[in-house]
Amino acid sequence: MSRCVGSLRKMANFSGVKLDQVVKQLESFAPTSLAEKWDNVGLLIEPPNDKLVERILLTNDLTEPVMGEAIEKKVDMIISYHPPIFKPLTRITKANWKERVVAACLSNSIALYSPHTAWDKVLGGVNDWLAKAIVDIQGIKPLVPEPDAVPGTGSGRLVETNMPISQLVQALQEHIENSVHVAFAVDHQAKTFVNTVGICGGSGGSLLRGLQVDLVITGEMSHHELLDFNHNGTTVLLCNHSNSERGYLREFLPMLDDRLQGACELFISEKDKDPLHTVMRGNAQATQKVQQ
Ligand SMILES: [Zn+2]
Repeated sequence: MSRCVGSLRKMANFSGVKLDQVVKQLESFAPTSLAEKWDNVGLLIEPPNDKLVERILLTNDLTEPVMGEAIEKKVDMIISYHPPIFKPLTRITKANWKERVVAACLSNSIALYSPHTAWDKVLGGVNDWLAKAIVDIQGIKPLVPEPDAVPGTGSGRLVETNMPISQLVQALQEHIENSVHVAFAVDHQAKTFVNTVGICGGSGGSLLRGLQVDLVITGEMSHHELLDFNHNGTTVLLCNHSNSERGYLREFLPMLDDRLQGACELFISEKDKDPLHTVMRGNAQATQKVQQ
């Protein structure tokens, strides 16, 4: 799958779409009403001018390097999975990176939209993408189904399988295109095969807590949460927070392209990456390579 639909249509003319039409398509895929009450989702920055949206950048996190890329690519809109504005801002100065990002969006007339937990819960969203490391979509159920919503919508995911743990780890690594950390259940030697798996992208500790499953997959967890899971008979696979989410953008890009009928040039950020890197013992020299 291409990282950039635009590059496939180099000679094509992108007619552009009004911002409210892009927002309408994003809402019709994953209504913001699905998002958690504590979340801050939807259109977060609307530039004052009404120019058409011709170029859209997709990113997991809107960091300053990603913001620089957006300006360089002359995009009109950024879709950032995590909301860059979460706590209320009391000023827009140069002193804080989030404030600088907001100022850069406004001064470059770039709109900003964040779906966050609406994408987690929606059928065909981030958690379904993560669960597809193990099974097809038909075998995936929400952990907490959303009332009065399309079946398959809800928080977290639950899958049944019959895989040796080594095969499951390999499948997950291939799927997220990255390494994972394993914390084994204290009695793990008693079980060769994994039958039940709880899944939650990002920080899934609180949602997955107390679940009676062989294994859970999430992005990050605290040391003490890990010990609780392991003593409850559950093995934990950690991907790093954003590595459990980011790959979904590759699945979302062609869906958005269809919805916009090819009217916009779509990019996945090349600068967006998880801040954590694994440096193996004895390989510290690789740190410099990672830095570049
Ligand atoms: Zn997250």
